[in-house]
Amino acid sequence: MLLSRQWLVVVAAAAMLGARRSLQAQDNMRREDHLRWPGGEVTFHLGRNLTGVVLANIREVMAGLESVTCLRFTPLGTRRGARYATKVLYIRRGHSCYYEKVGRRASGSVLLKLGDRCAQRPTAVLHMFLHVVGVRHEHQRYDRNYYVTVDHHNILPSHAREYIRRSWGVSYVASAGLPYDYASIMHHAASGHPRDPRRPVMLPLVPCAQLIMGQRDVLSPADVARLNRLYGCERHYLGDDIIGAVPYATWRRRASRLRRLEDHRRW
Ligand SMILES: [Zn+2]
Repeated sequence: MLLSRQWLVVVAAAAMLGARRSLQAQDNMRREDHLRWPGGEVTFHLGRNLTGVVLANIREVMAGLESVTCLRFTPLGTRRGARYATKVLYIRRGHSCYYEKVGRRASGSVLLKLGDRCAQRPTAVLHMFLHVVGVRHEHQRYDRNYYVTVDHHNILPSHAREYIRRSWGVSYVASAGLPYDYASIMHHAASGHPRDPRRPVMLPLVPCAQLIMGQRDVLSPADVARLNRLYGCERHYLGDDIIGAVPYATWRRRASRLRRLEDHRRW
């Protein structure tokens, strides 16, 4: 019996490792590029049963993002949001907050569900919208082990994907040449999603950073810069003044070179 239990543990661990490896193998820079909405134009459709507070929060988030980036949100059926657009962000009322996937789908629409409780705060909606426009969690960066330690055994299995470290190339594009940002609205708190709530899921190597990790109050300067760099919003804030940031022009040039190298390797 003991042997069979050990065997099960070994098989489960191998399956998890295999799943993580296969996920990393799927990571590539071109695929990462395709998560973004072309031209920063997001055509959306709101469900009829969204409540007033949630609707107000959605509008506040869209207006906020439009004011600091070149992203544009257009309702389906209006002049710019074509009547029969095939790639649409459908926003529906849900029991909880749920994003179908990071970024847009290469073929077809994506679904964002907002629950009445979890979408009570505009910044919670903002976090979900950043996923929708292709931004990953900050603690999924390739270099995260220099900044946090993650207790993988204490992560709820249903949230395990949110802690998978992405490949180097994808991280180079996704982090947009900006330094690791404990204050990002896309960083989880130390408590995270634990099996055992008495133990943290993730601890920063700089202890005081625990105070800021998981904040859901504002976009950090690097959050804004990341969006603008990823979408090429060159008239907006690009974060060249952030300590440790690779200058935007340099990052763009290097990212292009890496994409070409990746294409070459694939052939
Ligand atoms: Zn998230």
